[in-house]
Amino acid sequence: MPTFNTSPGTRDILAPESARWRAFQQVFADVVEHAGFAHIIPPMFEDLGVFLRVGETTEIVTKEMYDFDDKGGRRIALRPEQTASVCRAFVEHRPVTPWKVWYSGPNFRYEKPQQGRYRQFDQVGVEVLGVDDPQLDAEIIALAVEFYRRLGLRGIRLSLNSLGDSGDRERYAAALRTHFVSHLDALSVESRATLERNPLRVLDSKRPEDAGAIAAAPRMADHLCDAAAAHFASVQAALQAAGVDFVIDDRLVRGLDYYRRTTFEFVATSLTAAHTAIGGGGRYDGLVADLGGPETPGIGFALGLDRTLLACDAEGVFAAPATVVEVFIVDVTGGAQAATVCSQLRAAGIGADRAYDARSMKSQMKVADRSGARLALIVGEDEVAKNAVTLRTMETGAQQLVPRDELVAQVKTALGR
Ligand code: AMP
Repeated sequence: MPTFNTSPGTRDILAPESARWRAFQQVFADVVEHAGFAHIIPPMFEDLGVFLRVGETTEIVTKEMYDFDDKGGRRIALRPEQTASVCRAFVEHRPVTPWKVWYSGPNFRYEKPQQGRYRQFDQVGVEVLGVDDPQLDAEIIALAVEFYRRLGLRGIRLSLNSLGDSGDRERYAAALRTHFVSHLDALSVESRATLERNPLRVLDSKRPEDAGAIAAAPRMADHLCDAAAAHFASVQAALQAAGVDFVIDDRLVRGLDYYRRTTFEFVATSLTAAHTAIGGGGRYDGLVADLGGPETPGIGFALGLDRTLLACDAEGVFAAPATVVEVFIVDVTGGAQAATVCSQLRAAGIGADRAYDARSMKSQMKVADRSGARLALIVGEDEVAKNAVTLRTMETGAQQLVPRDELVAQVKTALGR
C-alpha cells in the first residue's frame, strides 16, 4: 500500500503545539477586540485577479501563487495573504467607515521550505479602511507591540519607514534605477534581474556583493512630498508619545507593491536563522481603488504565527497550555458505568475520559496515569453493589469511596473547585 506524508512546506500541528496555536489566536482576539476590531473570515481561495493587485512585480504573485482553473473554468488562487481579500470584501459589502477588522488563518505561497518558511503558514492581522489619520498608524503599531508583550516576548525590534505617496514612490524608483544602472557592474546577477522588475526590491538584497551599491543609493526620505513627510513625522511623534521604541530604516520596502506612506516590520532579535521578520504592515492607500472601489485609505499588519512561535521558543515564553482531562474513569465491570459517569461529569463541566475494550484494571490504570488526569474514578463489582465509586488521587494514591449521588460535588471538591 502507498503511504503518504505531508507535502513539502506543510506540517501537521499536533498537541500540545495545536493548543498553543489556539491560545495564540485567542490572545490576539482579546487584544484587538478590546480595541474595537470585528472578526472577518475571508474565503481561502478567490478569483486570481484579487491577488494580482498585490503587485505584479512581486514574487508572491509572479512565482509563489497557488493558482489553478477550477472545474467551472474560473482562474482561482489560494490566498497568499489576506489584505487583498479584506479590500475586496470592503468593495463588495461597502461597510461604513472606519471599518476595523481582524483575521486569523492560513495563507499559501509556493516558497522554498525551510525553518520558519512554509508553503502553508498562518497569520493573524488587522486592517482599517477609511482613515487617513497618522494617529491610527501609531495605534495599529502599538497594538501589535501590546500583543507581543502579552505573549511574553521581549526581543522585538520595530523598523519604520515611509514609502511616500504613489508619485513619490515612482520618482524614487526612477532615481534608484538611474543609480543602480550606473553601478550595474557592482550588482549581483540576481539583483540585476530584480532591477528590471522593481528597483525598490534591490534594497532588500542581503547579498554581500550588493552592499556597496545599496549603501550609496538615494534615500526615500529625500523623495517624500510635504504631505507624506508631515504624515511620517506625526506617526513618529505619536509612537514616541505612546512609548513605543522604533528605528527608522529607510531601506525597508517590504515584499508587497501596494504599500504607501507608513511601512513597518517587526524583527525577533532572538531568532538567528535567515527568517527573523515575524510581522509587518503599513498603509496601502491605493488598493481599494485598484479593486474597483472608491479611493479609500487603508492600513494594517500581518503577524506570522509560525515564526512568532519560533521566537517564543527561543525566548522560552508562551508555553503550550495544558489540555489534559481532569478525571479518568476506570471501569472493570464492562464499560457501561464509565459511559454514564463520563457524561455526568462532562455535563457538569469537568474534563473526563475513560478506557475502552474492557481491559484489565492494571492496563486501565496505566492509561489513567498516562492521561495526566489528577483523579481516577474506579468502578468495580464492589462499587456497583454499593452504588458508589472509588475516587483516587493520582499523585498520592489516596482513595475514598464516594456515593454516586455525591459524585460531582466530591470530584469538584477534590479538584479544588
Ligand atoms: P507578509 O505577508 O509577506 O508581509 O508577511 C508577514 C509575516 O508573515 C512575515 O513577517 C512572516 O512572519 C510571516 N510569513 C510570510 N511568509 C511566510 C512563510 N512562507 N512562512 C512562514 N511565515 C511567513
